[in-house]
Amino acid sequence: MNGISGAAHLAGVIGSPVSHSLSPRLMGHWIQALDLDAAYVPFAVEASGLDVFLAGIAKSQLMGVNVTLPHKEKVLALADTASDAAKRIGAANLLTFDGDKIHADNTDAPGFLAALKPANIKYRQSTALVLGAGGAARALVYALLTSGISRLILTNRSRGRAEQLVDDLAPMAAVVDWDQKDNVLGEADLVVNATALGLNGDQPLKLDWSKARSGAVAFDSVYTPLNTQYLADARKAGLTVVDGLDMLIGQARPSFRAFYGREAPILPPVRPVLLKALGEKA
Ligand code: NAP
Repeated sequence: MNGISGAAHLAGVIGSPVSHSLSPRLMGHWIQALDLDAAYVPFAVEASGLDVFLAGIAKSQLMGVNVTLPHKEKVLALADTASDAAKRIGAANLLTFDGDKIHADNTDAPGFLAALKPANIKYRQSTALVLGAGGAARALVYALLTSGISRLILTNRSRGRAEQLVDDLAPMAAVVDWDQKDNVLGEADLVVNATALGLNGDQPLKLDWSKARSGAVAFDSVYTPLNTQYLADARKAGLTVVDGLDMLIGQARPSFRAFYGREAPILPPVRPVLLKALGEKA
């Protein structure tokens, strides 16, 4: 299709800043692959103007928007209704509009499980060690609970935040001190970095991978860079590794369905497009 018509299906992503977001490329690739009369655009929205902006676009012809930092928590309070997942996680990354009503949802949780699917984890017989207790950790812990994970161990630099997460979401989880993380590594079938450590090549998350269980899987929510030191070390120790880009793709699929009423196509694959945008080798 050449351009879009006046009846095009429109959606977008809001954040501050939003210029780094890969979502327009991701959604644009799928729109093009399906030759849809549709568009997906980035909106830079300051926190101070978020309520006015949302009230305006909810009444427009936009089908909805994705939400990135720093608005994921605030939009939940501004929505008229919210899914159970968004409420329990305490954050939303997908808003859909119906008339002037805003519905909030969280697709980070299913996105994480979609990324892990090829690793074939038997959740009901597995222990997960989650490092971190921020917004991403809350979504990943929620996902692990919905998958029926047998045992959860949480650790965070600020222990109080991990305890709060357990109180809010996962009473069955155990909290260990941050300096004890290497001592529980050997109990985990799945090791999840949900901290910001390693982001943009800054201070990496270092673990003593020699203590890891054989056959364990390491996941990193960070995807800039793609090959973090955490994943490189885990791979070197023989673990199966899953990077955060697959979660980004996984969280976008339900959003695409909600905006455009179609399943995002598997082919042509979107991952090489995103790798190119990140300056990473395919
Ligand atoms: P957040 O709410 O700000 O939480 C940051 C987390 O990192 C907290 O647990 C914090 O610990 C920890 N942390 C930060 N600096 C640390 C340090 N120097 N040492 C130890 N721990 C440190 O951020 P978030 O939204 O949860 O995001 C976390 C990561 O997930 C980010 O890298 C983000 O890019 C990524 N993410 C990826 C996807 C995806 O689709 N792949 C989606 C969402 C988020 P304290 O509580 O002690 O400060």
